[in-house]
Amino acid sequence: MNRRDFLKRSGLISLGGILLPSVLVPSCRKETLLQDVSFSGKVIVIGAGASGLYAGYILKSKGIDYNILEATSTHGGRMGKLTGFADYIIDTGAQWMHGNNSILADLVRSTGTTITRDDSELTYWFNNQLVSELPSDPFIFEGQNLPDISFKDYAHQQGLDSRFDNIVEAIAGDQGASATALSAYWNSKDEENWVSGDEDYKFRSSYFDLINDHIASHVADRITYNCPVTEIDYGGDRITVRDGNGGEWICDKLIITVPVSILKMNAITFTPALPVEKTAAISRFGMGPGMKVFLKFSSAFYNAVTYGGSVCGAYADDTLGKITSDHVLLAFVMGDQAAALNALGNDTAITNALLQELDTMYGGQATATFINSSVHNYTNMPFIQGAYSYSTIGMDNARNIASQPVNNKLYFAGEAMNTNGHHQTVHGAVEAGYNAVISMLSALDQ
Ligand SMILES: Cc1cc2nc3c(=O)[nH]c(=O)nc-3n(C[C@H](O)[C@H](O)[C@H](O)COP(=O)(O)OP(=O)(O)OC[C@H]3O[C@@H](n4cnc5c(N)ncnc54)[C@H](O)[C@@H]3O)c2cc1C
Repeated sequence: MNRRDFLKRSGLISLGGILLPSVLVPSCRKETLLQDVSFSGKVIVIGAGASGLYAGYILKSKGIDYNILEATSTHGGRMGKLTGFADYIIDTGAQWMHGNNSILADLVRSTGTTITRDDSELTYWFNNQLVSELPSDPFIFEGQNLPDISFKDYAHQQGLDSRFDNIVEAIAGDQGASATALSAYWNSKDEENWVSGDEDYKFRSSYFDLINDHIASHVADRITYNCPVTEIDYGGDRITVRDGNGGEWICDKLIITVPVSILKMNAITFTPALPVEKTAAISRFGMGPGMKVFLKFSSAFYNAVTYGGSVCGAYADDTLGKITSDHVLLAFVMGDQAAALNALGNDTAITNALLQELDTMYGGQATATFINSSVHNYTNMPFIQGAYSYSTIGMDNARNIASQPVNNKLYFAGEAMNTNGHHQTVHGAVEAGYNAVISMLSALDQ
């Protein structure tokens, strides 16, 4: 489950020109956080995931009046925690911190949060056997001039025959995509921009707690829960935001952090309509089914990471970095595999399908030692509708276009709008929230 290792990147890359927030972290940025620029108008942030929470945090630090409108009854979005299932806290959404060169890595350091590097060895289910070595290297999706064809087609073009299909599916799954949908070319371009480092880390407590305790806690009093935004009218001097409860909110600037899937399905009506170029760009994003299933057993019969199942591409021991006497295996299921499990219709059927595959791999030990499961299916969550954004075939510069502000009024954030190559991640979502506020302040400064 080491997304950077999957793509065979190595070494740290410097932060380069990335603007880092200063309020939580580097003081160097504090001087340049447009400190002379203030704003007496009202800002509304839509969505209380990592991106919206951090945008609110920056607005608060600037003394700007803001509200956060969240559709559900909780904050965190694609982050959450499960207690009581095991004797440690489980992250139901994001759980790995990708890289140690980011604002959130800085936050981990400054708060003394305990993390453990995840160097788990991969075991492969290949040709109906568990093996530690493969006859060919399947990690071929990095480099210059890859063609704009799917991972699966590129793998076949490079001589990886159908025995590798489920392993390639797992590699694509790490990007939240099916191997038939993810562009080899555009994904490699995304990877070129990645600067936050290659290592993955797990939290002794939880990733959710990091965000909750150090960001959400500062803005929670400004969040209105159970407030699904349905309409945005930005045609007049001020912006009118309408919610599904009949409420109306007036503001001067709007920061939209909802998942790109919500924009793709036109769940929010814009008046006037968003520019055609922007909606066309949004339609090019991929965001497919995804789920995490936690399987609790009486013994740990499995390898640290098992890669290449046909039901689930990647199984990982969930207890790495935790203090626990429990045995919990994570089934990380994305793309077509998640769609297939989702189609089974209920959590019991999903669990049974996974147990059956594990029994095949591990000689019946899964069913024999099974205690309980907990399914977290993002596929149909009404206000998420998928796992995370990925670059499709023909993606081109869609991410840059989609993330542009409209009329100096609407600003777009959320992980999908991160143009630094850090989409799909929590730190990418936070960066996007920050960038939206900076973009708004910069426009005021002109
Ligand atoms: C299964 C899974 C595993 C992941 N694992 C990792 C990982 O290990 N490491 C990592 O870095 N990242 C991981 N990610 C990705 C990471 O969780 C996301 O990139 C990040 O949390 C997204 O934050 P966000 O604020 O952009 O969006 P979200 O967290 O989705 O927040 C958007 C918010 O908008 C709200 N909303 C939607 N529609 C409306 C509306 N109409 N009105 C008001 N509110 C609305 C939603 O309810 C939600 O709270 C994972 C994601 C998934 C699904």
